[in-house]
Amino acid sequence: MSVRFAFEANPSPVSRARRAEILEDPKFGQYFTDHMARAVWTKDGGWRDAAVVPFAPIPMHPAAAVLHYAQEIFEGMKAYRHADGSVWTFRPEANGERFNRSARRLALPELPVDAFLDSVTELVRADRDWVPDKDEQSLYLRPFMFASEAFLGVRPAAEVTYMVIASPVGPYFSGGVKPVSIWLSRQYARAGRGGTGAAKCGGNYAASLAPMLEADEHGCDQVCFLDAAEGRYVEELGGMNLYFVTRDGRLITPELGTILEGVTRASVLTLAKDLGLDVEERPIDIREWQEGARTGDIREVFACGTGAVVTPVGRLVWEDGEVTAPDTGAEDSVTMRLRRSLTDIQFGRAEDHYGWMR
Ligand code: PMP
Repeated sequence: MSVRFAFEANPSPVSRARRAEILEDPKFGQYFTDHMARAVWTKDGGWRDAAVVPFAPIPMHPAAAVLHYAQEIFEGMKAYRHADGSVWTFRPEANGERFNRSARRLALPELPVDAFLDSVTELVRADRDWVPDKDEQSLYLRPFMFASEAFLGVRPAAEVTYMVIASPVGPYFSGGVKPVSIWLSRQYARAGRGGTGAAKCGGNYAASLAPMLEADEHGCDQVCFLDAAEGRYVEELGGMNLYFVTRDGRLITPELGTILEGVTRASVLTLAKDLGLDVEERPIDIREWQEGARTGDIREVFACGTGAVVTPVGRLVWEDGEVTAPDTGAEDSVTMRLRRSLTDIQFGRAEDHYGWMR
C-alpha cells in the first residue's frame, strides 16, 4: 500500500512582506516555511495520517521514548531554484535510501522511498515560494523520524512519527566560501566499530558537541574525528566528509564503515573521476595529513556535505602544532573546480548528465 501525503493549506501563512524580508538574509536553520509533512506509524497498523499540514509546534508526551533513549534519525537535503523559476531537489532518493539504512540501525520502521519522495515533493510544492532565488541560497529540507510512543521501557517504540520541515538557507558558513579551520579531536571519538557512525541519528550529533566546544576554545570552526580503535585514522568532521588532493593529482577520501555515507561525498567521487582524477577510498593516517600538508605532498584538503557543499579546509590544529595545505582556497584548485561542477548542476547552470536533479 503506497503512502501519499494529502495537502491541508495553512489558513494563516507568513505574510508576503515578512517572507521577502526573511529571504533577503535567511541565515541557516532559523526560519521555517508555512507547512510541514507528517505521518504516524504504529506497530499494529503501519503508516497512516500522511499529510502536509500547517507548520506548528507538536504536542509531546513527557514519556515519549525519543526524549529518553534518543530513538531518532534525520536527513538533510536541499531544493534549488533555477533561473527559469523551476525548483529542483538533488538526488533525493539517495537521502531516502540512507534514511532507511539509518532506520534499520535505530530499530525504527522503514519508510518506503517513494513515500519519502512524495513527502518532500509535496512539501516543496506547497512552500515553493519559500525557495530563495539568490546565489548560494536554497531551501533546506529536514526529514526526521522519532519514537513518539509514551513508554519508559527500553525497547523499539510501537509508535513513531515521521516529519519533514523546511527552512530557507544562505551559505552554511557565514562569510562565504572561505577555508574552515579544523581542530583535531584526540580526547573524543565519534563512532566505533558496530556503533552508529554510519547512521544519521541525533545521538551522534549530541556527542559531537563537547568536542565542538573544544574546537571553539582553540579558535577552530569544526572538529576532525579519528577512528576509535587506534586514534590514528582520519574519519570525518562533525557534519562533513573529508577529501585530500595529492601532488600527483589523486583524490583520497576515508573509506566507508564508521563514517556517514555522504550524498555529496558520493557525488564528488563521480565528478572527480569525470574530471580525470584518480580516486582512492582507503584509510588515511592522520600523520599522512600532517606530514603531507607540510611537505606539499598533499596540496589541498576539502570538506563536503549538503550544507557546506565543497569547502576548502584551511588550518588543521592540534595540541602542539598546526598545518595548512599549500593550495588551499586557490581559485583554480581542484576543490574550487569540484565545487563549481557540483553547484552548476544543482543550480541548473550546467547540464545534469547524471540525472541527479528531480
Ligand atoms: N558526515 C556527517 C557526520 C554529516 O552529518 C553529514 C551531513 N549529512 C555528512 C557527512 C555529509 O553528508 P551529505 O553529503 O549527505 O550531506
